[in-house]
Amino acid sequence: MSNIKTLRKSILSGRTTAVSAVEESLKKIKSESDLNCWINIYEKESLEKASEIDEKIKKGENPGKLGGIPIAIKDNMLVKGMKTTNASAMLKDYVSPYTATVVEKLSSEGAVIIGKTNMDEFAMGSSGETSAFGVTRNPVDTERSPGGSSSGSAAAVAAGHVPASLGSDTGGSIRQPAAFCGIVGMKPTYGVVSRYGISPFASSLDQAGPLAATVEDTAAILEVIAGYDRMDSTSIKREVPCYAENIEGSIEGVKIGIPSEYMQEGTETAVRERVLAAAGILEKLGAEIKEISLPLTKYAVSVYYIIAPAEASANLARLDGIKYGLSADSGKDFLSDVTASRTEGFGSEVKRRIMLGTYVLSSGYYEDYYIKAQKARTLIKNEFSEAFKIVDLIFAPTSPTTAFGLGEKTGDILKMYLSDVFTISANLAGIPALNLPVGLDSKNLPVGAQFMGNYLSEELIFRVARALEKEIKSSEKQ
Ligand code: GLN
Repeated sequence: MSNIKTLRKSILSGRTTAVSAVEESLKKIKSESDLNCWINIYEKESLEKASEIDEKIKKGENPGKLGGIPIAIKDNMLVKGMKTTNASAMLKDYVSPYTATVVEKLSSEGAVIIGKTNMDEFAMGSSGETSAFGVTRNPVDTERSPGGSSSGSAAAVAAGHVPASLGSDTGGSIRQPAAFCGIVGMKPTYGVVSRYGISPFASSLDQAGPLAATVEDTAAILEVIAGYDRMDSTSIKREVPCYAENIEGSIEGVKIGIPSEYMQEGTETAVRERVLAAAGILEKLGAEIKEISLPLTKYAVSVYYIIAPAEASANLARLDGIKYGLSADSGKDFLSDVTASRTEGFGSEVKRRIMLGTYVLSSGYYEDYYIKAQKARTLIKNEFSEAFKIVDLIFAPTSPTTAFGLGEKTGDILKMYLSDVFTISANLAGIPALNLPVGLDSKNLPVGAQFMGNYLSEELIFRVARALEKEIKSSEKQ
């Protein structure tokens, strides 16, 4: 499927229609159902919306910035009247009572919401394998993981089912699947995008963002979904920049740091090589490349796997089988019903997080684990602030490896957690980060590199990523 920019031109010029764009998308989704990218497809509704868009265009009305563009939504974002499962048995029949702000914003700019994508259960996972709806396959190599937790959102874009999708990123869940599937994905600064109507995992880390085939499309989507929302007290009050419009430009003199901790032995050689080659291109384009050090990187996984489960255990406490979601009848008392509902409804990874979270929050351990992790989080944040006094951006691998095999890490949870080592810090600090494909390894698997920037530096990230993307694409053509 063409990218947003091309498709938009075709729809506006009458070379194609929104209805045929949606039909093409639906056809592709059906013919590649083996990838298991989707949990729900809105066939009727999306065709209806597309014909409304076509009507508008015929009448000479403005169809919106994304008029007629098919877009996929991760199944942790609410769409009123439709199911939001979080890929969990707990919410398999849950119908959303209202619509998430991000979805509302996309729809009001004419985007066609094609359906909901598969994901790790409650966004907990790095491989797409914890879903109660089955694993998602990586379209680049179907024996491999597409990454997680926005597994379906990344795979659906990489497979060309849709030009763009939304994901959420609590510890890397937009960037790592984007890296594994060879597409672009951005986690904005915490607070740039409203969390209203997105199922909370770890509220102080969660941020939604776009996945798309190009940097420009990613910017175009962010421009639509960003902005202050009075329904989310952590959303930032400021005017949304024209991310897509300001994307082209010189990167002369931009200082970019490569942290040595991301380029050590644990990172695959091919990943290091591709990242360094990309850094060479950035230098050729006029950027100043420096080696920097972020020594606290080694604590990120430990800190995250205390804070994220702690917040998750509190957020998931509402799923008690009484208020909503799966309700199991134990035939005994109230407490037994709650226990039965949670035992049946949650998968093993979610249970593990709840246990970890309640443990680190329990009296006696709270100071030793939770408070200590919060202190370490502040130090990690400060380390980034210091780094951004020396450099404008940080450039590093998104993941230490390319896409791993399905089943390869499910037996070793620590290995799975460690695969998040490079993405987690940006969430702990709240800074923006974008994954860009920078080449292939010897197995032809995509290598992803990420740009991390200071708070609200999305425009700079987009401009530099766009410049690099252009060079990489033109060298691939030769
Ligand atoms: N892989 C990480 C985890 O399992 C991050 C998930 C996310 O960003 N939603 O928690």
